[in-house]
Amino acid sequence: MQAASADIPEVTTIGGSARLGVDEMMALAASAPVGLFVGVDPEGLVLVNDKLEAITGRSEAELLGQGWLRAIHPDDRARLEAEFEGDPHDMDDEHRILRPDGTVRWVRAKTVAVSEPGVPTRVVGTVVDITEMKIAAETLRHSEARFRGIVEHSFDAIVVVGPDGTVRYASPSANAVSGFPKGSQVGRPALDLVHPDDRATVSAAIDAARPPGSDMAESDPAASDPAHPVAPFTFRSPHADGHWLTFEATAVDLSADPAIGGIVLTGRDVTTQRASASAERASEARHVEQASILEMIATAAPIQDTLTEVCRMLERRLPHVRCTVLLVDADLKVLEYGAAPSFPTSFTDSTGGLPIAEDSTMCGAAVMRGETVIVRDVLDDPVFGKFADLARANHIRGCWSTPVWDASGERVLGTFAAYLAEPRAPAPTEVAAVESVAALAAIAIERHDVQARLAAQAHHDSLTGLPNRNLFGELLEHALRRAQRSGSAVAVLFLDLDRFKIVNDSRGHDAGDELLGAVAGRLESVLRPGDVVARFGGDEFTVLCEDLQPDTADEQAINVAGRLIDALRDPFTVAGDELFIGVSIGIAVGITGLEQPDALLRDADAAMYLAKERGRGRCEVFDEAMQARARDRYDVENALHRAVARQEFRVFFQPIVDLAKGTCIGVEALARWQHPERGLLGPGEFLRSAEEMGLMVPIGEIVLDLACTRAAEWLAVVPDPSRFRMSVNLSSRQLLHVDLPDLVSEVLRRTDLPPRTLCIEITETAVMDDPEAGLLAVKALKALGVQVCVDDFGTGYSALGYLRAFPIDEVKIDRSYVAALGADPEESAIVAAVVSLGHGLGVTVTGEGVETAEQVALLRALGVDAAQGFLIAPPQPAADLTAQLIRPKTWL
Ligand code: C2E
Ligand code: CA
Ligand code: CA
Repeated sequence: MQAASADIPEVTTIGGSARLGVDEMMALAASAPVGLFVGVDPEGLVLVNDKLEAITGRSEAELLGQGWLRAIHPDDRARLEAEFEGDPHDMDDEHRILRPDGTVRWVRAKTVAVSEPGVPTRVVGTVVDITEMKIAAETLRHSEARFRGIVEHSFDAIVVVGPDGTVRYASPSANAVSGFPKGSQVGRPALDLVHPDDRATVSAAIDAARPPGSDMAESDPAASDPAHPVAPFTFRSPHADGHWLTFEATAVDLSADPAIGGIVLTGRDVTTQRASASAERASEARHVEQASILEMIATAAPIQDTLTEVCRMLERRLPHVRCTVLLVDADLKVLEYGAAPSFPTSFTDSTGGLPIAEDSTMCGAAVMRGETVIVRDVLDDPVFGKFADLARANHIRGCWSTPVWDASGERVLGTFAAYLAEPRAPAPTEVAAVESVAALAAIAIERHDVQARLAAQAHHDSLTGLPNRNLFGELLEHALRRAQRSGSAVAVLFLDLDRFKIVNDSRGHDAGDELLGAVAGRLESVLRPGDVVARFGGDEFTVLCEDLQPDTADEQAINVAGRLIDALRDPFTVAGDELFIGVSIGIAVGITGLEQPDALLRDADAAMYLAKERGRGRCEVFDEAMQARARDRYDVENALHRAVARQEFRVFFQPIVDLAKGTCIGVEALARWQHPERGLLGPGEFLRSAEEMGLMVPIGEIVLDLACTRAAEWLAVVPDPSRFRMSVNLSSRQLLHVDLPDLVSEVLRRTDLPPRTLCIEITETAVMDDPEAGLLAVKALKALGVQVCVDDFGTGYSALGYLRAFPIDEVKIDRSYVAALGADPEESAIVAAVVSLGHGLGVTVTGEGVETAEQVALLRALGVDAAQGFLIAPPQPAADLTAQLIRPKTWL
């Protein structure tokens, strides 16, 4: 210690007498190879280093304060937020980071709370990116499973010997051959299982498997070849009942593979055939054969090629036997051709496709019974004698068939049949040989089934079993090509269920799923055999009709739509309840076959939207007018991104006036888009596209910022600032966005606006989309001191009582009610009821869309507090309004 210290430069130690200064700490933090942060309650993060910026893909400015939460993957966010609530404390957690570019990283974060008297408690944290580690662990799990899969099906005895010379693993066949119970050999020294006279041989083989100097891997070129099997060797090993078994084995070093981690000994019990030298050669060849078949399985060679090789392997082993493999079909009804390399096609044609039944074929009976069926002589078998001609033509007399079981032993995948030219029952060794080869066939078939299932899933919806969106796209493409050749027309019907969301929300997802399944069944039941119905996603279905007459294609498609609408008319019974569901359908027809699949789908979707707007439960055909509108929408979508980047959004303001006094009590901010070519656009022309494109949140942020900035200016000049409010509209997407409370408080802080001046308007449908989340969001806004208004009241589903559940400040009666006032006494009654309930709850009631003096009088008479509308003042730019807001004036 003493001597060495002279060579080591002096180190400043933390906690020792020499403490690091702040500057040194900062320098250390900045260059640290792990993410570092310091947080203080309640400000949030006050320091982050470069590495944390690199891990999260976000800048320091984005991470500081509560901004870091945005970097957390949404699925982990709530948990972490809860974790950091309350007193700062130590934590050690693994979670995901969502980078702005959409990539996900796994990190491990540790925090330590540091408290010193007189100073707010700080939290110091480290963040390490563990993504690669996670991936490695995942890969390991997979390769481990694969190794086990192959080994456990192998008919060779397989034992893995760990670096310490003990048994790490023994395969089921190793246990079976040696008679020891499962797991009993694991942990024992491997050489305990070897005859004392043979221990030197086995040790030598194990050493040989390990390349010399493998612990100096880099310097030895041979070591770079990780696994080279040693020449087969033999040794004796005890059977559980005490006698000696002779094994022929080979050893491979797979210690470097973390899934295995040892020397793999693969052995065969050769006790009975030990004497014969030719058997030795045969077994060597068998090893090679088996390895090549396993390789075909691993590389996903076509199933019939693999099975053919399996048959040939058996035929080489038993030269007097010819064999076939048949496969159980997906419906478990028939046996299909698998492989039969030694038979002519005339034979396979007449044996494939036969039903699975006790008395159909020998193989059918083997499947039914789940055990080997032996036929001593087909020519005089009472059941299978019906194949006598076929048997004679192919020189078959005796035969047997073994079922091929899956790994779980629950399902028969197919049969392995062997045929002899002479009439006799097979010898036990022959049956055993077939059974062992059948195990290889099982691996091949199962692997193939899994792949086929995965491929089908890529094309089918798992809930309804219908084709999915991908497959529908492909089918449509083919249909269009056919239509182009044949001169016929194609129709695409886009279906969207009406009110499905309500079912899902009120009855739960299981009921929703059940309903979708039942809907799919009914839709299918009314289509022509050639038509295709697909589940496009959620509660959307698409239908493809081919071979339509071009001049009457519209009518034919409308006719199909009518049948589909009718098919859903009767109630569905879901979980014991009767449910009604409707459907809105849009139709697009391809007349030339030159149409693009995506364009047809988009047109049908646009027509479906119109059907919804025109009152649901109906269908609309895409036409010229819609085409023009769709083109506009398309242009809008293209231009919207640019508009956000170039700040092309403006805000107009419409005064809201006290009906009793005539004074202005606030304004509503209404978004406008100053389109470079098309001029000023109202929300009707771009909001829906913005919502669909996910641009509503950034646009809303711009509007909120402009409105609050303006409100702060006006607040300083209006006669009664305490009553003045700035109302801003939020869509449901905005309301439910996790960042909303942060955004609002951030904007309020930046503009220095008292929270109560801001009033957030949300529609009742926005809240009803997800009442639980909606209520939470409203409460979060209220907690900031912001006011909340329910807009367009009376257009949604909710009853009056719904107002009670929400802590709101204002209700805006929808302008459709205001417009109907006077004409319809029922409307007046509804407005009166809203007023009385609203006032009971201390809520301000506003009427919107006031266009006539008569409406003002009626609203006043009904006790409505405030009003806005073209009669009083239209929405207008701030500059036009400022002068009017400053002077006290009567607006009515
Ligand atoms: P809203 O919240 O019901 O807004 C009132 C709408 O009624 C405005 O249409 C306004 O111009 C119009 N209006 C005002 N007085 C009258 C009248 O006397 N008669 C009639 N017929 N209409 C009147 P605008 O500006 O086109 O806005 C339409 C809708 O767009 C708004 O309905 C609101 O739901 C939404 N919206 C507007 N700005 C924003 C925004 O910044 N964010 C979000 N999320 N939605 C917004
Ligand atoms: Ca509004
Ligand atoms: Ca409204």
